Amino acid sequence: MSQTPDSAVRTYIGQHRAAFLDDLAEWLRIPSVSAQPDHAPDVRRSADWLAAKLTETGFPTAEVWETPGAPAVFAEWPAGDPEAPTVLVYGHHDVQPATREDGWDSEPFEPVVRENRLYARGAADDKGQVFFHTLGVRAHLAATGRTAPAVNLKLLIEGEEESGSPHFRALVEQHADRLAADAVIVSDTGMWSEDTPTVCTGMRGLAECEIVLHGPDQDIHSGAFGGAVPNPATVAARLVAALHDEHARVAIPGFYDGIVELGDRERRLWAELPFDEASWLREAHSYATEGEAGHTTLERIWARPTAEVNGIGGGYQGPGSKTIIPSSALLKLSFRLVAGQDPEHIEKIVRAWAAERIPAGIRAEITFLPATRPCLTPLDHPGLQSLARAMGRAFEGPIRFTRSGGSGPAADLQDVLAAPVLFLGISVPSDGWHAPNEKVELDLLLKGVETSAYLWSDLAENWRHAP
Ligand SMILES: [Zn+2]
Repeated sequence: MSQTPDSAVRTYIGQHRAAFLDDLAEWLRIPSVSAQPDHAPDVRRSADWLAAKLTETGFPTAEVWETPGAPAVFAEWPAGDPEAPTVLVYGHHDVQPATREDGWDSEPFEPVVRENRLYARGAADDKGQVFFHTLGVRAHLAATGRTAPAVNLKLLIEGEEESGSPHFRALVEQHADRLAADAVIVSDTGMWSEDTPTVCTGMRGLAECEIVLHGPDQDIHSGAFGGAVPNPATVAARLVAALHDEHARVAIPGFYDGIVELGDRERRLWAELPFDEASWLREAHSYATEGEAGHTTLERIWARPTAEVNGIGGGYQGPGSKTIIPSSALLKLSFRLVAGQDPEHIEKIVRAWAAERIPAGIRAEITFLPATRPCLTPLDHPGLQSLARAMGRAFEGPIRFTRSGGSGPAADLQDVLAAPVLFLGISVPSDGWHAPNEKVELDLLLKGVETSAYLWSDLAENWRHAP
């Protein structure tokens, strides 16, 4: 999958690298912390700054889009070719909170370069990875002699990702016409490692619920009443015990209906990844692996759906004893979903499964939170092939494939725009997202620029679009 890099692209990037890094540093100095109301003016300043920079980059359209919360930035640069595919790049310009006292070796909002790494809050998550597209598109134009990109290029950079993207879906729905795209490129992810560049092909979805089980109207004496009325804590435990079978498969009827099974090729490719289970376990702060029979650890976290107990409570938990039947018990459950699973269907079958197990005298209140759908792009998708080739040229080596066990707003774009999601990220696990001393490796950041420069040509050549 590796191809020869383009010397014109590399020359252009070399010539503009210093100015690019100066600009990025200027953006990183804006503390656009969406979680803290004090920083709302900074988040706005960050959006304005980006829109101005995208105009300067050459985007004929660059707008700040309002939401009930923090503003997003939209930009568009048409290819001027009716057969060119349309691509929407997604990222975010808000950042996690950070103060020097959290354990930073330098000021989080005063970017510094040490040992070829750029340290600042947002360096990797996500300003650095949004910004590499600006130099990328310029290098693409310089190397191809074009005056507009080879694809219809759109960007949507939201301002609330670190706060859970509360208004994102509504924003995408509101502007669905202008955001319409053949593919979404998410640049808010990472790679396996510096030595193993990878493309992520999907993320799991997420459905979450809270189950409150109400028994007696108040806590009652276990001597006077115990053994003769139902105990909500016992019912909660029965539900938990019924979640999985003896092979650690989820035992809710219909749970696996329609799921997209992992193909042999992808399974083989994953098995070739340099996965060290011992160090993974250390990262997991755990002492043994456990999960669905017949699947490796990577398969379990990337390709299999789960049911987890996130919280369980009820009854007396203070010192000593208190001989009661508690009046209520609580369960918080979550389900990671894979392609083919529909959160609405999951809610229906979980409710039916629970209802069947709740005895007379116990009243269950089941609340589902807004769900996130899974997304998955098949390995043979032309856009994914282009992305892997573009990365292969930048990294001068083979690109491997991964998935992510997590869930994110990319799924909203996939759903509303009915477009596949491609993940282009150059961050590595040591970049310290959300942690002190967040950094981005400058060499990788420039590989991101280079990938972006190759990608638009490759997509346009290999994914012609009927006008
Ligand atoms: Zn992010």
